[in-house]
Amino acid sequence: MEERNYDRRKRIRLLKRMILGTIAAAIIIPIIVSITLGIRVVSLQNKVKELEETLLVYGNGIDGTTGVYTAANIEEPMEDAAGAEELTEGEDGQQDLNGYQKQIYLTFDDGPSQNTDEILDILKEYDVKATFFVVAKTDENSVRAYQRIVAEGHTLAMHSYSHKYDEIYESKESFAEDLTKLQDYLYQITGILPRFYRFPGGSSNTVSKVDIQELIAYLNENGITYFDWNIASGDAVSGQLSADVIVENCVTKLDSTNECMILMHDAAEKKTTVEALPEIIQTIQDRGDAVFLPVTDETIPVQHITAKAINEG
Ligand SMILES: [Zn+2]
Repeated sequence: MEERNYDRRKRIRLLKRMILGTIAAAIIIPIIVSITLGIRVVSLQNKVKELEETLLVYGNGIDGTTGVYTAANIEEPMEDAAGAEELTEGEDGQQDLNGYQKQIYLTFDDGPSQNTDEILDILKEYDVKATFFVVAKTDENSVRAYQRIVAEGHTLAMHSYSHKYDEIYESKESFAEDLTKLQDYLYQITGILPRFYRFPGGSSNTVSKVDIQELIAYLNENGITYFDWNIASGDAVSGQLSADVIVENCVTKLDSTNECMILMHDAAEKKTTVEALPEIIQTIQDRGDAVFLPVTDETIPVQHITAKAINEG
């Protein structure tokens, strides 16, 4: 009798344990799976965002305004570039400047960053002036960087306060608010009221919920000129391009236009851009036909024509 009771209890205990184990597994396994999937989703979302930004930059090369493309292999210009002529004019050296046939505008987006000082040191060493399309940063180093950009004769230009696409391009009002905030901030720090602008993602970006023409009209009303680019260093891609590739991207397309607006980034993770810079400058200087200029009122803006095909959706 004793023996049988003992066996029974043992079986019940075992059964209880199995049931509890099953319940626990039924709870824990889905949680683990959810967490794992959640992490995966977030990392994929980030990846998509990065790719979108990369696409934006490459996409901007395909409007065919200047025939200068990025490293991406783009098949065909999307739209006829009517009107582009008046903006970019002179493929044939019409606008000689002190005998130089080619004007080179080095432009740095997204700064200031940890690299700004090094970039400025290099520019100083080669006696080259450039243009910085900056975002707003309030830390001490950044404040010094804005001031140094101005003090050393470079052009301080605007690239949005927040650089958050979803906020800037939400409405005309949010765009205006962001821009005014940046302009005021830079004025307060440097005493210079910047009047040159580069749209995050370029004027032919595909993310704006507002018709870009409305935003361009706003800029015009406020005496602000926007600049895109016709040569992309390619450093916007996620992950790092080697310095060699960046140099290559910058210098191989110089012959396709006389007004070369080169897009680069001043961002902490873009170390190879800094590495590439001396060679880019040296190579261009060695040509003997080019002068480096900062963007000024005299600069003919390189502006992408917003192709309808890109902007739908
Ligand atoms: Zn940017």
